[in-house]
Amino acid sequence: MADLQKAEIVGTPAMEGTYISEMDMWPFECQEFNRIYPFYDNLRAGKFTTTKCKACGHIAFPPGVICPKCWSEDLEWVELPQRAKVVCFTETQAGAPIGFPSPLIMAWLTFGEDTPLKHLLGRIINCKEGELKEGDEVKFVVFDVPSHPIDVKRDTAIRDRVYYAFEPVK
Ligand SMILES: [Zn+2]
Repeated sequence: MADLQKAEIVGTPAMEGTYISEMDMWPFECQEFNRIYPFYDNLRAGKFTTTKCKACGHIAFPPGVICPKCWSEDLEWVELPQRAKVVCFTETQAGAPIGFPSPLIMAWLTFGEDTPLKHLLGRIINCKEGELKEGDEVKFVVFDVPSHPIDVKRDTAIRDRVYYAFEPVK
């Protein structure tokens, strides 16, 4: 209960009816329930990372806890490139889900040949409607996500959350 009161004080959008966690686009970001939680710690440090298999060398994205090639659980964290080019994109100018300001821009990105991550469907932020063009260069950016109460054992906890997107290189 103490945490719920705290949530109201900090203005958790779920409490104000402006952010519905069921509409959340992001995975459950809570250290107690998420074995890829280092991904978020790395985001906070400004790093875009994923897991590499120490047994066979395979690099998978998104990160996981088991290698999809050889089933090894002996994985390590490696950094991914932070710059990409826009191949094509969609721009939702009206009717974006709650919690997502318009325009909601999703882009198919290419990272080049010399990287384990060739392509990714990524969100573009800090970009005005009609501004983005195919071929534009974008860079990785980390932003805060509204917190909402999470049941952890017998308590309700508020977790600071972050996620990543890309923004145009000016
Ligand atoms: Zn492997």
